[in-house]
Amino acid sequence: MLSKELSALASPLNDQQSGLLQQAVSELSPQQLAWVSGYFWGLSQTQPGGVNTSLNQTAVNNSQPAGKLTIIFASQTGNAKGVAESIKASAEEQGITAELFDASDYKGKNLAKETHVIFVASTNGEGEPPDNAIELHEFLQSKKAPKLDGLQYGVVALGDSSYEFYCQTGKDFDSYLAKLGATAFIERLDCDVDYEESTIQWISDSLNKVKDALSSSVEVVEKQAPLVQAVHSQYTKQNPYTATLLTNQKITGRDSGKDVRHIEIDLDGSGISYQPGDALGVWYENGSELADAILGQVGLSGVESVDVSGESMSIREALISKYEITASNPQFVTKYAQLSGSKKLQKLIEDKDKLRDYSSNTQVIDVLLEKKAKLTADELISLFRKITPRLYSIASSQSEVEDEVHLTVGLVEYQKAGEKRLGGASGFLAQRLEEDGEIKVFVEHNNNFKLPVDDNAPLIMIGPGTGIAPFRSFVQERDNRDAAGKNWLFFGDRTFTQDFLYQVEWQKYLKAGLLTKLDVAFSRDQQEKIYVQDRLLEHSEQVWQWIEQGAYIYVCGDATRMAKDVNDALITIAKEHGQLSEESAIEFINNLRKEKRYQRDVY
Ligand code: NAP
Repeated sequence: MLSKELSALASPLNDQQSGLLQQAVSELSPQQLAWVSGYFWGLSQTQPGGVNTSLNQTAVNNSQPAGKLTIIFASQTGNAKGVAESIKASAEEQGITAELFDASDYKGKNLAKETHVIFVASTNGEGEPPDNAIELHEFLQSKKAPKLDGLQYGVVALGDSSYEFYCQTGKDFDSYLAKLGATAFIERLDCDVDYEESTIQWISDSLNKVKDALSSSVEVVEKQAPLVQAVHSQYTKQNPYTATLLTNQKITGRDSGKDVRHIEIDLDGSGISYQPGDALGVWYENGSELADAILGQVGLSGVESVDVSGESMSIREALISKYEITASNPQFVTKYAQLSGSKKLQKLIEDKDKLRDYSSNTQVIDVLLEKKAKLTADELISLFRKITPRLYSIASSQSEVEDEVHLTVGLVEYQKAGEKRLGGASGFLAQRLEEDGEIKVFVEHNNNFKLPVDDNAPLIMIGPGTGIAPFRSFVQERDNRDAAGKNWLFFGDRTFTQDFLYQVEWQKYLKAGLLTKLDVAFSRDQQEKIYVQDRLLEHSEQVWQWIEQGAYIYVCGDATRMAKDVNDALITIAKEHGQLSEESAIEFINNLRKEKRYQRDVY
């Protein structure tokens, strides 16, 4: 039977080689055969003059070599992980064996054993890799990185084009892999915030290529359990749960300069579960007043019909529910500068830094107000990005609140051109949505911001402003688990009397001994600014003691300034009390990150 199969193939082997091969394979099980064929195919890729993809295709079609696709995600908020999971699901639908790895669980040197890998990578604000990929990112640039001549790879880079270092982590992985000798089997895809549609075609094209090169045998599929068991809720970003709003309570004082809301949402009957550290994705609708103001500014009535991903609807409806019409971005400003002919905007788009600055500080309606322009309905929607859900750090633990989920939402609100401007999602949650109103939500799990498994480990939590949210969840969870570990909270905000979020709860926990220490920094209660990092430095000796005792450090909130300053403070503490040089202190703190003893949820 085997010899029949061998002779049926257009074999490149001579008679002697054929004989030896037949003898060898006659002793192998089907599973071993599948493995061996994949092994030899992989080997052929590392030899000079190795078979090219078109030859492989012939081989695949005839002899079905086993092989697999490895998918690695570098994800901060879960978007890259979501794309990686879709790739895996599509691959499996096509019969391709695929394994999914969190970058922090993947050993870089194993890349040398792979044949086909897809990286899906998001980028942090300043072009840094997500926390779960710091180690792999570093490894691939180091001398320890292996030669990857036999590796074929693809990269999906996720980013936000309003940032300077757009898709940087994906670009980095692309260039590091190429430098190590790997070959891209498909061009890298760089995606903006509305990435979903653009990934569909790329996934289909790349899997066609991978399928041409690989095939999987049933035995191999059964044997190889995926290393990452994705937690799949029935409800996802694409299929959210329609929940109801239970409570919307302002938790800043009457005289506060900020309006922060404590939001409670009912999940009863949904079966949704979440862990402390996870985020809640919220789909929102834009205000009809804003949609009307935009329509009026470009000379449309709102009844004009438009096509949105194959669905026909009025442009007014499309603006309310399908497009991001609050925050602007550099592409929006650039396109409108061209369509409107505004001299001011045309000058602005020549300077990238100024354009980025202007876009992040000017809402869509205020860009349109720079110059009135008559637009068609299609021209208007061509300016916008599709609406995307907002992620809020969850502020409750299910061990405490069961079928509810709580959020801490800062309302974005300011005056411009004599009118009130509201944030898209925060305006919806805090002002437009009524109690008992419907809200579409899903849980975005975040494995990079998790309580230690060891309930005895001490925690240091640093969360100024609405960055306090996940720590309410952490403390509730530790309370309900009767965790014995010490807990130290650093909170900061503008003023003690107006902005001390959840003050009563923290004081209760302090009194009960669950919070071992609480340190607060109210920046505007005195002449000079006092921030959370100042409190850390004031208590540096004790902070160092806690770190030496194995404390886990968590930071949540503003990424651009606060998180950097807190990081600097931790380096200073390591220098002073660990008697380390600047370089060793930086390495020490980076190692804490790699060991997951220093986790951040910042943006
Ligand atoms: P905020 O008012 O911006 O700031 C809270 C406190 O931090 C104020 O006292 C502020 O002081 C102070 N502060 C300013 N610069 C600082 C610095 N360099 N280091 C330390 N503290 C500093 O707070 P918020 O409006 O609630 O927003 C918090 C930020 O966290 C927002 O950017 C939000 O998007 C982000 N956030 C992120 C997450 C997440 O990643 N999951 C969750 C929640 C919130 P002054 O204003 O007096 O200077």
